Amino acid sequence: MTTRNYNFSAGPATLPLCVLEKAQSEILSLPGVGASVLEISHRSPAFIEIAQAAEANLRELLSIPDSYSVIFLQGGSRLQFSMVPMNLLGEHANSADYILTGSWGKNAAKEAAKEGDICVAWDGGDTNYNRLPADSDLDLNPNAGYVHFTSNETIQGVQFANEPNVGAVPLVCDASSDILHRPLDISKYGLIYACAQKNAGPAGLTVVVMRKDLLDCSSDELPGYLNYKTHADNDSMWNTPPTFAIYMLKLITDWLKDDIGGLQKMHDLNKQKAALLYEVLDANPDFYQGHAQPEFRSLMNVTFRLPDDELTAKFLAAAKEQRLTDLKGHRSVGGIRASIYNAMPMSGVEALRDFMIDFVGRH
Ligand code: PMP
Repeated sequence: MTTRNYNFSAGPATLPLCVLEKAQSEILSLPGVGASVLEISHRSPAFIEIAQAAEANLRELLSIPDSYSVIFLQGGSRLQFSMVPMNLLGEHANSADYILTGSWGKNAAKEAAKEGDICVAWDGGDTNYNRLPADSDLDLNPNAGYVHFTSNETIQGVQFANEPNVGAVPLVCDASSDILHRPLDISKYGLIYACAQKNAGPAGLTVVVMRKDLLDCSSDELPGYLNYKTHADNDSMWNTPPTFAIYMLKLITDWLKDDIGGLQKMHDLNKQKAALLYEVLDANPDFYQGHAQPEFRSLMNVTFRLPDDELTAKFLAAAKEQRLTDLKGHRSVGGIRASIYNAMPMSGVEALRDFMIDFVGRH
């Protein structure tokens, strides 16, 4: 087998090796089908079984009640930046509140502002998005159509450990970079969306979980694809869904259930993995400066800077020699970003931790 790196990419991101091996073993022919999942109709019994199993796994892992729809879409989370306000704003409510905790929350609000009145409930820009608001910091409108937040800011590395309390207004969450990393109380949410390519599969699939009563907000005037009701009414088969990505989601959720043992276990593992890296930052504060304030640190994206650009470049080059790759931080934050989603094994985080300790010693 070709040697694999420990790949800390922010997304598309590393996938569980056993999932890739399973997909490889079935790529030419699904057992009992005689054709690849890439080659069969989305309406064939074999594929419908896969899509239903993927949805059932999600419902089981996240305890999603029957009063919520699970929808499989394309277009990435950026399409959701527009679809959410297109569907949830209208005659019944023409404004929404946005909690801006980083680049993705800002991007979501910018697109939403093309569809309705968007109010900023909180903005962490004055400290370059290194912290999160308390509930009492939020400036909320009780008549808003919804409140939007980003559970994990992939670029800055700040993450809500618990969802903000926004009262009776539906809570909408961009969970693109931390879906399935812990159990959720779905009843707190009106709508959750997540592109798959970080924690739930390859690029091409976006999962939406939404309260069924919110489907009534969507106007029939919306273009078919952009209306959540179209997809909910047609079991996500109104048009051809991203079949291979849904198949991969099925394998990944099988892995979460059968190999990991569910989302509580996954959460415990994610906390242990992140702690290994944050301990190195805390032990060497003059050398590694974490971006996020400690209480808001992400379990998924660990962001930090080194004393200067030269050392940062050396760090990246030396890490790559040890097959620790894709660690460069986003240009807006600089430094290093280690993305350690569900599929990053403990051994990969330990290898990075050992490398970081050794690098401080040598510089
Ligand atoms: N939201 C968050 C939190 C993200 O991390 C990303 C992708 N990096 C997006 C939205 C955009 O997703 P996509 O590229 O699938 O549109």
